[in-house]
Amino acid sequence: MEKKEQLYEGKAKKVYATDDKDLVIVSYKDDATAFDGLKKGTIAGKGVVNNLMTNRMMQLLEKAGVPTHFVKELSERETLVKKVHIVPLEVIIRNVSAGSFAKRYGVEEGIPFDEPTIEFSYKNDDLHDPLINDYHAIALHLATKEEIALIKQYAFKVNDVLKAYFLTLGVKLIDFKLEFGKTADGTIVLADEISPDTCRFWDAKTDEKLDKDRFRRDLGGVEDAYREIFKRVTEGK
Ligand code: UDP
Repeated sequence: MEKKEQLYEGKAKKVYATDDKDLVIVSYKDDATAFDGLKKGTIAGKGVVNNLMTNRMMQLLEKAGVPTHFVKELSERETLVKKVHIVPLEVIIRNVSAGSFAKRYGVEEGIPFDEPTIEFSYKNDDLHDPLINDYHAIALHLATKEEIALIKQYAFKVNDVLKAYFLTLGVKLIDFKLEFGKTADGTIVLADEISPDTCRFWDAKTDEKLDKDRFRRDLGGVEDAYREIFKRVTEGK
């Protein structure tokens, strides 16, 4: 598969064309941003962890019946994926209160919910990704009613699979963000990444944070946290 021109550069990844019009190469960087791009930095080795971890998660989810954009791991930092049009919604699932949920509703972090929650943000940098509901997303033609129903079904399935999986590694899956895409034939597939950048992972025994909150909140040990969660994923404990 020949890597051709760069199509896009985001905050954490670059995307390249290939000689197949339906496939692109994603290349993961060590760059990190937080708070709507206000905080910038690098996390050494993050690109490798996020690429390899995302690919494992995508393969696990495919087996569980969730279609994904994953095609083939090319190297430590690069993966071949299906070219999609990203549905401009950030889909957030929560099992335990944290982050913007705790802040918005004035509750402590760490309160487990009886049932997982779902929410959407409209992916729009100019508007700073505002919270949006299903009806508004449909009104804005961001997705159809049927697509949103499917996205919700897949997102809860992802939660069931990943929550159980991470518990076997001694990790609580607190919350995470997903993005979905539409392939050339209109199929909705899970896209983007599943990594410590996009999930909150807490050690099941100590509640130690093993994710990007260490960077966001200047807690130190950022690289160690990425290494630790990756070690558990690769060693299966
Ligand atoms: N998240 C993300 N990208 C975003 C916003 C959130 O990957 O632009 C992830 C975040 O890592 C966390 C979950 O989605 O695992 C919920 O984030 P929250 O809404 O609490 O926002 P935050 O507190 O991160 O601003």
